[in-house]
Amino acid sequence: MKRFALLGEPLGHSLSPLLHKAIYRQLEIDDASYRTVELAEDRLKAFFSGFRVGGFDGVNVTVPHKANVIPLLDEVDPKAQLLNAVNTVHRIDNRLIGHNTDLLGFAYSLSSNEVSIAGGEFAIIGAGGSAQAVGAVFAEGEAKQVSILNRTPERAETLKRLIQEVNPAVKVELVDAQGLAKRAKYLDCVVNTTSVGMAPNSKETPLESAICEQLFSPETVAFDLVYNPLKTAFLAAAEKQGAPTINGLQMLVAQAVHSVEIWMGGNIVAHVDMNSLVRDLEKAIK
Ligand code: NDP
Repeated sequence: MKRFALLGEPLGHSLSPLLHKAIYRQLEIDDASYRTVELAEDRLKAFFSGFRVGGFDGVNVTVPHKANVIPLLDEVDPKAQLLNAVNTVHRIDNRLIGHNTDLLGFAYSLSSNEVSIAGGEFAIIGAGGSAQAVGAVFAEGEAKQVSILNRTPERAETLKRLIQEVNPAVKVELVDAQGLAKRAKYLDCVVNTTSVGMAPNSKETPLESAICEQLFSPETVAFDLVYNPLKTAFLAAAEKQGAPTINGLQMLVAQAVHSVEIWMGGNIVAHVDMNSLVRDLEKAIK
């Protein structure tokens, strides 16, 4: 039996066990288990000692441990190193190797919604861990310009530096909400990477409705990394202006499938029906 887990705190009603079990079912893998392990930072070291000697075959890592686990690993792939964030750890014999599949999940969701990056202009609201993955995808995809709007300017600066480290040709601007609205006609996609609007605070939005009215049109896609509720107040405001919308569910599914591919090997991404997994999760959230 192969053993996998999600590590974080708090994990509450995480969808990951349901999602991973649905992936194993699709792939007809019947000798794998997936469970949540809720751990405070001071217990990580002991957990990783057991993991290393065979306690688990792989783990996913979520808030607040994506950076905390890095010193406990033997190797970290260059992208995870760049973001200083690991969301997938694979044990090979007694070696632990860290990866970041959030980038792959975000890139998958953009491409499956036919949002192309090269030469485009994008906005990122927020500058935390997930914003770094989003920024790195825009930089690697050769976006022309990225605007960043964040509550804490220092974190926005850090994100700017990361984007320009990945691709110095990308123009990066730090903006306030008014400044963002001024870019409206150039923007291909605006991504909310903050947790604002996540259940149970589903009435909240990261942008006031007057700004959403100026910002969105049928030419500008609204992407919210939040997936519960499925239609956040941010997406609803964008939809009101005729904007196409994408929630975070497809990204969540794709990052999980990429984790399974790292753990199991083979070309799993190509063999999984992502849409059916999204539908399974939609039923669980509704
Ligand atoms: P972090 O804590 O690393 O970053 C959160 C960001 O949101 C920070 O920039 C923070 O601003 C900003 N923020 C938080 N609260 C507020 C507020 N009230 N007003 C304005 N800004 C605020 O979180 P993550 O980046 O890891 O996760 C963010 C969201 O993305 C979560 O909802 C998470 O569930 C979702 N997510 C979804 C994924 C998917 O697969 N769909 C994958 C990863 C994350 P400041 O810097 O000022 O503190």
